[in-house]
Amino acid sequence: MASSPPRIQERTGLQAMQTFPIVIVGGGAGGLELAVGLARNGHSDLLLIDRTPTHIWKPRLHEVAAGSGPGEIDEIAYASLAEKWGFAFQQGSLADVSAEDRTITLAEMTQDTQSHVVPPRRIGYQALVLAIGGGTPDFGVEGVREHAAMLDDVEGAKALFSRLSHRLPAHHANNTDRPFQIVVAGSGATGVELAAHLKTDLRCAALAPHSDLPPVDVTILEGADQILGGVDDEVRSVVKDQLETTGVRVETGQQICKVMANVVETRSGQTFKADVTIWATGTSGPAIAGDIAALETNRKGQWRVRPSLQTTRSDAIFALGDCCSNTDATAPTTAQAASEQAEHLIDALPRWLENEPIDAFEFRNKGTLLSLGDAGTVGTVKSWFHTDISINGRLAHAAYRGLYHQHQFRILGPLKGSEQFAADLFERAAGPRLKVYG
Ligand SMILES: Cc1cc2nc3c(=O)[nH]c(=O)nc-3n(C[C@H](O)[C@H](O)[C@H](O)COP(=O)(O)OP(=O)(O)OC[C@H]3O[C@@H](n4cnc5c(N)ncnc54)[C@H](O)[C@@H]3O)c2cc1C
Repeated sequence: MASSPPRIQERTGLQAMQTFPIVIVGGGAGGLELAVGLARNGHSDLLLIDRTPTHIWKPRLHEVAAGSGPGEIDEIAYASLAEKWGFAFQQGSLADVSAEDRTITLAEMTQDTQSHVVPPRRIGYQALVLAIGGGTPDFGVEGVREHAAMLDDVEGAKALFSRLSHRLPAHHANNTDRPFQIVVAGSGATGVELAAHLKTDLRCAALAPHSDLPPVDVTILEGADQILGGVDDEVRSVVKDQLETTGVRVETGQQICKVMANVVETRSGQTFKADVTIWATGTSGPAIAGDIAALETNRKGQWRVRPSLQTTRSDAIFALGDCCSNTDATAPTTAQAASEQAEHLIDALPRWLENEPIDAFEFRNKGTLLSLGDAGTVGTVKSWFHTDISINGRLAHAAYRGLYHQHQFRILGPLKGSEQFAADLFERAAGPRLKVYG
């Protein structure tokens, strides 16, 4: 960026402060594509910050939860991507945002041992993009945080795998005739995909050495009267049939009021045995959003943005993906929407820095695809004439994987992206779908 101002180093009460023309916080599905896209377009004088050192594409978390080991899921170090594309990366967790003096604060970070502490850092920006994703709302239901697993991040996915892999054999060792019970709370795309994967993957060939594991029952509990709210009726009906065929039990109109160690209770007074409970009740804003006084949030705790993706209270602060919600037309909380928003900002941010007008973001829905494990993939895609076409089977599976490969191409470039694509094809053909320790 020829006209971008030089980075400023200044002493503050915290640490030497650096200022960047563009600071992006959160290197997930949207934030990382934005950082790489800007750098590839010649605007590499930017800083990407993430609380973790490596990137995993969030829609693959259910594979982590199903036991995919190191090497099977592409975990990419931010530092190596930063070096490849020429931008700066710092590991750190956002603690505060100041719109007034255009700075952010990163929380104190303890590395490895308590003896190595990175003090809080203050970083200046001309344009800030918040892309830190969201969380799963617990709706104040008693016991959720203590007893249910959530797939909000890699740690959550690994914790779920650990629970499954320890409790399944333990259940079997107890010589009980009762099947192992998994309750999935919520029937949005994540809940339905997870339920189908857990039910069908547990029968996969990779488990042959563990053939003495108990049978697994999976129940979806949904508070509304139907599953997959907001999804096309035709897709819903196909998914319902597939779930029935695979043996996933679906209970609608069941609002959960309490989660206990081995039981889930609903308002109707019914109880459901649950050796493992998975909480997948949609998306809310990040936990930290409410603590940041400079910005406005909606009732889901997401930062409110205008159609330009600028936050409602500051022109210099943009947000994309699950952490925000548009005041006009609401884009869904999907990787597809986050990626489109990143694409929009790759063009808009440099123009905004040059004081040029920027366009409103428009979400172009490319369809809905749901992967149901061994039960197949179903969904709709948009035709050239913008009508929905229902697809399933191999075509739907290819389209589903296509979204991930697009992400790889965007962050790795065409050559490396193609290598990863080939490796992924090979791994899909040869690798196990689910593993259990022991
Ligand atoms: C199991 C599962 C399956 C899914 N399947 C699909 C699918 O098939 N198709 C689809 O389109 N969508 C799917 N989604 C939804 C999709 O993953 C999200 O909508 C998408 O990842 C949102 O992108 P994002 O960039 O907003 O946030 P994320 O991808 O969540 O990235 C947020 C990043 O911010 C970092 N971060 C968080 N807090 C901080 C902090 N305080 N400071 C610094 N960094 C921070 C995180 O480490 C992370 O790297 C699925 C989600 C799940 C959980």
